[in-house]
Amino acid sequence: MRTPFIGGNWKMNLSLQAATEFVETINNQIPPASEVETVLAASPLFLQTMLEHNESPLQVAAENCYYEDEGAFTGEVSPKALSEMGIKYVIVGHSERRKYFHETNDLINKKVQAVFRNHMYPIICCDETMGRYENGDHISWMVNQVTAAIQQVAATDMRHAVVAYEPSWAIGTGHTAPADAAEEGCYLIRQTIADIYSDEIANQVRILYGGSVNAENIHELMKQPDIDGVLAGKASLSPQEFVQLANFNH
Ligand code: 13P
Repeated sequence: MRTPFIGGNWKMNLSLQAATEFVETINNQIPPASEVETVLAASPLFLQTMLEHNESPLQVAAENCYYEDEGAFTGEVSPKALSEMGIKYVIVGHSERRKYFHETNDLINKKVQAVFRNHMYPIICCDETMGRYENGDHISWMVNQVTAAIQQVAATDMRHAVVAYEPSWAIGTGHTAPADAAEEGCYLIRQTIADIYSDEIANQVRILYGGSVNAENIHELMKQPDIDGVLAGKASLSPQEFVQLANFNH
């Protein structure tokens, strides 16, 4: 049985004060980690304070990192430093990083390896555009993204990875993917992992859906057999709605 994974991705939103208050507000409302793993990714500027104020099973996560541990890389976020802070999860390859910061499959693979090397787990995002979906070539596109991202990742690490299916056409649009389309994307990711590793590994990897998830549509999404959780953007900015997402099964 895979533990459900409810993730939030704040992106470049909120302030240090709002982040602190958010964590304090939700402290008593996060389910035990044995029931649901609740993860919130925020700006590196907020992480230390969030960790200090967090008294719940919430995992504070990073939205990105670089692939080198240290060196002359002005402005980058060190995966080693994140690990030293006590961060467990890092989002890698979000569609906004691919689109606005020109992140390639090769770069994303290096970051995935860096995250594992530093004893953290990646939340690997795979995107897909409406054009690809309508043309039917989204399958090869997705398989290629997943395959490239996990090159040279050992099976012992891979079982701890989290992979998110986030169609660009559903991100920030208010239009979530229909549950069957979301399931199809997540199923495809699981099959790709099974082909590369084994059914045993693929059945341990948590696969998330992301794209306009909210406290209402989460229920239908979580009923799908290959959707183990969600990665919510906008809905994660409200403490009340994030708590509702984390407690989707109550
Ligand atoms: P929205 O939930 O705002 O569509 O964002 C989804 C997302 O990008 C999560 O990583």
